[in-house]
Amino acid sequence: RKADIECAIVVIGSGPGGYNAAFRAADLGMDTVIVERYSTLGGVCLNVGCIPSKALLHAAAVVDEAAHAKTFGITFGEPKIELDALRAYKDKVVGQLTKGLATMAKQRKARFVQGTAKFVSPNELEIAGEGGTQLLRFDYCVIAAGSQPVKLPSFDWKDKRIMDSTDALDLVDIPKTLLVVGGGIIGMEMANVYRALGSEVTVVELLDQLMPGADADLVRPLATRLKKQGVNVHLKTKVVSSEAKKGGIDVGFEGASIPERKTYDRVLVAVGRSANGGKLDAQKAGVNVTERGFIPVDRQMRTNVPHIFAIGDLIGNPMLAHKAAHEGRLAAEVASGMKREWVARVIPSVAYTDPEIAWVGVTESEAKEKGLQVGVGKFPWAASGRAIGIDRTEGFTKLVFDEATHRVIGGGIVGVHAGDLISEIALAIEMGAEAEDIGATIHPHPTLSESVGFAAEVFEGTATDIY
Ligand code: FAD
Repeated sequence: RKADIECAIVVIGSGPGGYNAAFRAADLGMDTVIVERYSTLGGVCLNVGCIPSKALLHAAAVVDEAAHAKTFGITFGEPKIELDALRAYKDKVVGQLTKGLATMAKQRKARFVQGTAKFVSPNELEIAGEGGTQLLRFDYCVIAAGSQPVKLPSFDWKDKRIMDSTDALDLVDIPKTLLVVGGGIIGMEMANVYRALGSEVTVVELLDQLMPGADADLVRPLATRLKKQGVNVHLKTKVVSSEAKKGGIDVGFEGASIPERKTYDRVLVAVGRSANGGKLDAQKAGVNVTERGFIPVDRQMRTNVPHIFAIGDLIGNPMLAHKAAHEGRLAAEVASGMKREWVARVIPSVAYTDPEIAWVGVTESEAKEKGLQVGVGKFPWAASGRAIGIDRTEGFTKLVFDEATHRVIGGGIVGVHAGDLISEIALAIEMGAEAEDIGATIHPHPTLSESVGFAAEVFEGTATDIY
């Protein structure tokens, strides 16, 4: 059969992994096609992930900051929330970015084909779209089909009151009571949005801390603030049953601190994401896929089939946009003939909660588990002039150093803007910086970023200031 479309490289999926791979490949002179099942580019991150969630979190922060202003003698009235306008704002933000991507694709002459791709051979895809199926023949392929929310089978997903993160971002209404199942990044960000907009929020988490993966001390200021805000958090708690009733979703729990049953107006299930690698008939191209839908790759993002690459959420954790983007560019460069490989030492993680929690590299608990010889420099924001000035002193910055070399190998920050502040630590780790380098770097005063320099000085025993 004659191919309907031929290209040097095809990218399946247009998320941060896919569009970066496609744009880089096109910039390197390859005839590029992006296949995406939805009508807009941008994948989960731009359409139903990073970007809309941050737009809503900004609205939540404004509500909170207006209430907080009372502390310094400024009082605003009760917030009046126009849900349609808020939704329109979020959609505008998303639209601006996805349209921007479409323009950038056009400028690069990367062709966009809408449809669902499946392999039919090692060099062919069948693309099912509105107008029927097309056969695409490629020299190289980048699989960037991402991931999707795990749907716990204990819930009746036909009931619209049971939501995954995509449904929660739709902001259909502000439920009086909301149960969030899962205390990870996505669950806690959405909990913050709905709490600020007026819902009574309950969070249940199976493990013994929120934000599993982060050090326990980083999570504590968040837990304290949630308590003050009236968010009910139940750790080591499992959902065991659920029944959709007229008056709400009746949920059964196993846990020490929660009643056995309770009814909620809505439930958000945020218990993780599953990789989409198993849905592409990859075996027809000879590509290995694990039982859980992940596609194994080497340091050049190649699958076991050398001309087929895989990137982003479907190659493994952490499932983060900035990781996908780097992998996408790398795959394109390798496919174009450049001799490159994955060299990143660390990938930062950020929870855009209030306060934000950010961590990078080796965490303190991981160092302990592995028996690494480390030292820690910790700077409490209670001693930061800037943090005092904005009345947000609950944060702190800590750096983890190799005891022998004094090289920084990890770091964590909790506090407002922690997500923006973590980049300096990531850079320091990538550059092999030592505590003295970080302490000797002149940071602007008064900023929260100073806390990174101070934490290094605390470790070195050279700290002199209280700012
Ligand atoms: P995706 O973005 O998942 O894109 C894959 C694309 O492939 C999709 O558009 C899909 O439609 C398409 N596709 C799948 N199969 C096919 C097929 N067979 N044919 C054609 N197209 C197909 N990460 C961060 O770093 N920071 C954040 O703040 C953040 N916030 C998040 C908030 C939420 C609510 C969620 C859900 C996620 C968030 N993430 C965040 C995670 C981030 O969105 C993902 O890590 C990122 O989108 C992964 O990019 P990707 O390119 O691997 O795939």
